[in-house]
Amino acid sequence: MSRVLVVEDETHLAKGLRFNLEAEGHSVEVARDGETAVQLLSNGSRTPFDAVVLDVMLPGKDGFTVVRELREMRNFVPVLMLTARGRPEDVLKGFAAGADDYLPKPFELPILLARLQGLLRRREWLIQSATPEQAPASGYETFSFDGRTIDFGKLELRTDENTIQLTLMEAELLRHLIANRDKVVSRKSILENVWGLHEDTDTRAIDNFVVRLRKYIERNPAKPQHLLTVRGVGYRFVPEPVD
Ligand code: CA
Repeated sequence: MSRVLVVEDETHLAKGLRFNLEAEGHSVEVARDGETAVQLLSNGSRTPFDAVVLDVMLPGKDGFTVVRELREMRNFVPVLMLTARGRPEDVLKGFAAGADDYLPKPFELPILLARLQGLLRRREWLIQSATPEQAPASGYETFSFDGRTIDFGKLELRTDENTIQLTLMEAELLRHLIANRDKVVSRKSILENVWGLHEDTDTRAIDNFVVRLRKYIERNPAKPQHLLTVRGVGYRFVPEPVD
């Protein structure tokens, strides 16, 4: 059983989500505004939540602010964001703030349940870590290149200077690129393997993740040496570039 926090101010929607998530065997709490959500999620004495379904449009503090504040507090609970349909800029804003996945409203309930299940499963996968088949890149929970170490168990990227906390999907994307290192990985393959082929996922979301990952792993993000764009196809991860 997982503990899920639903952050939604529309009463009928919040009720419907609670009912259906409980029917799936989850334990559910509802917060009707952003302040309450941050409070519930930052209270260390309580049982932590395993995932959050977070509406963007909330009274007071909006969903973007909530997820940004969580990440600033180093709370990396998986967040599924509910965005308004027809606003792709919200999707990018959500990912930039630290959301793990998104679903445009109005959504179909089975799709929401599948997405949430996907996040919960991936979280377990990363936490319980990594038998060799799950991490073919290294056989271990960590992978090192060019003075950087990615720790998939802790969702951390360590360099000489600092430690960067990765979100679940950042770690998943890195894991997929590393597993296929030195090969071209198409956006389609990334959609299928990292996001679980969401029929309405905008591929620009991937590009946005890549821009973020470059800031973490490249010495000069404007001239990437490790995470290369393959024009018209996708990306290639090169741990040891030959000059
Ligand atoms: Ca709302």
